[in-house]
Amino acid sequence: MGPFRVKQPLPSREVREASPFILLHHAGPHIIDPAHPMERLGPHPHRGFEPVTFLFHGQARHRDSMGNHGILNAGDVQWMTAGSGVLHSEGPTDEFLARGGTLELIQLWVNLPAKHKMTTPKYQDIASSKIPVHTVTGNGQPLNLHVVAGTYDGVTGPAETFSPVLAMTSTFDAGVDVELDLPHATSLIYILHGGVILNDDHAINERYMVVLDEDPAPFRLRTTSPGSMIILSGAPLNEPIAMHGPFVMNTEEEVRAAYRDFAGGKMGTLEE
Ligand code: MN
Repeated sequence: MGPFRVKQPLPSREVREASPFILLHHAGPHIIDPAHPMERLGPHPHRGFEPVTFLFHGQARHRDSMGNHGILNAGDVQWMTAGSGVLHSEGPTDEFLARGGTLELIQLWVNLPAKHKMTTPKYQDIASSKIPVHTVTGNGQPLNLHVVAGTYDGVTGPAETFSPVLAMTSTFDAGVDVELDLPHATSLIYILHGGVILNDDHAINERYMVVLDEDPAPFRLRTTSPGSMIILSGAPLNEPIAMHGPFVMNTEEEVRAAYRDFAGGKMGTLEE
């Protein structure tokens, strides 16, 4: 994906779709050496969905054709609604490239319901200080959940979404032993680092994603080593998907229209 080497658990041969989630990329951890600066992902368009970036390590910047400009630090989230179309560029800040260090992020694509695909683009820059931390206690170490979107146990995250979505990140210690209950029919857990055991018999290693059964019952989550994960739960959209490159629409004709509109400059312009 541009200059990034990424792990892509969604879509994959095993999991083609998990509506409303379309794509999950885990970039890094990538060690940036000031002597060998990496490039940014230059201006490119999106339409019809929401690209969301969860920054776990490092510092990244964002610019788009709506005139938005933002810097993300570790723990921050950028929730962008591409809607009818936007161009953006993304990558490490100049300062971070000069200083060097570890860059690690998750990029998630959340589909938009058909009736909102052509909504006006918008951009939510969410600082980690605005993301509530909910602590789940159990028999062992507690589990801290950073609630980015949706509501868990009465704690609501700041991101506005167009369909019911719960998105939480967690950095955990070994020895967590808790019960979790996710609200929607599609539920995913991706482990960036560390080891997790679900319901006593399903071990998940790092860089693996688990898709829970539809409408899962409460389940037991234990951790065997320190690490981090992202937990997603969403209501399926049950609409056709036509996905090509940076566009996610409902029909092939809508994808062709997106390419025409991009080529015709209708998604704005952005200088590198
Ligand atoms: Mn992008």
